Amino acid sequence: MNQLEPIEKELAPAVAPDPLTPVQDMLKACIQCGTCSASCPNAFAMDLTPRHLWRMVLLGQTDAIFRSQTFSLCSACYYCTLRCPRGLLLTEAMGALKQIASAQNLDRYKKGIRFYKSFMNSVRRHGRVHEMELMTLYFLSMKSPFLPLKFTPLGLRLLAKRKVSIEIPSREPNALEAIFRKVEEMEGRS
Ligand code: SF4
Ligand code: SF4
Repeated sequence: MNQLEPIEKELAPAVAPDPLTPVQDMLKACIQCGTCSASCPNAFAMDLTPRHLWRMVLLGQTDAIFRSQTFSLCSACYYCTLRCPRGLLLTEAMGALKQIASAQNLDRYKKGIRFYKSFMNSVRRHGRVHEMELMTLYFLSMKSPFLPLKFTPLGLRLLAKRKVSIEIPSREPNALEAIFRKVEEMEGRS
């Protein structure tokens, strides 16, 4: 044995774990039957079918996976999960890819992620979404002074039709706060 081996090992830079590995583990038993693609109500809008995406995950094609919009278009309806003949947790796998994109702050998904976070913050505070607050939080997170202008005509139309309210809802603590805290605890975020 090379006498320098233990020292070389000690000096070698630690390799960060591949965030894709847990997703690959979830999909190991995929037989590429395509039932998930045939079941998905959003597949028509996806650039890759779910079956194709799972194949790329198993092959570790990280760049191609995160160039695709497929996982960001998953609406978590659980239909594919219910119908997969191998009983794979496909909705969770889609969610895991969304989490990786969010954690890595990938440019392509920034808008969607910030909109989603603003939406969830509003629901957390009021027990339901408050549209004015949602858009205010979203505009602040995007740090673009011109973005609100783009939405002004739509906002005015919705206001005229009384589809959105400018009333500030009460900030009484609501029952959802306990649920949000529990989820954070389960995900190790608290
Ligand atoms: S339904 Fe299940 S086994 Fe079939 S392709 Fe989709 S993930 Fe794979
Ligand atoms: S959970 Fe997502 S991927 Fe699965 S069928 Fe529903 S929208 Fe499609």
